[in-house]
Amino acid sequence: MAVKSTSFTLPTRAGTNVLNITEHVRDAVASSGMKDGIVCVFVPGSTAAITTIEFENGVIQDLVQAIERIAPEDIPYAHDAAWHDGNGHSHVRSALIGPSFTAPFSDGRLLLGTWQQIVLLDFDNRDRKRKVIVQVVGE
Ligand code: ZN
Repeated sequence: MAVKSTSFTLPTRAGTNVLNITEHVRDAVASSGMKDGIVCVFVPGSTAAITTIEFENGVIQDLVQAIERIAPEDIPYAHDAAWHDGNGHSHVRSALIGPSFTAPFSDGRLLLGTWQQIVLLDFDNRDRKRKVIVQVVGE
């Protein structure tokens, strides 16, 4: 068994920015040279998240609106009262979705569904450059 780590960095916009990172993850699995195993995709940072969804405008909008209903931007947050950085909602959203996603691969191919893409969500209230770590474990 081997472990190979790589990373990539993407610019993100303020607000709930949803980016399709599936090809980056596919590339990491391909360049690992491994045939079978699992790949972990992880974003370091407490205002971003990784999940999977069909990367289609309608459902992306639906997800963004659902997140807005669960952790609205325009309500008071204790974090904002303490730190005055205005991104209490970003931290809560990030914690609810989670920082990582793991998928199996076999014969060098990610075993995702046809309409299942891997996405980076940036919830912060300012533009950022996000590093995403991809760790491939297998043989
Ligand atoms: Zn903050």
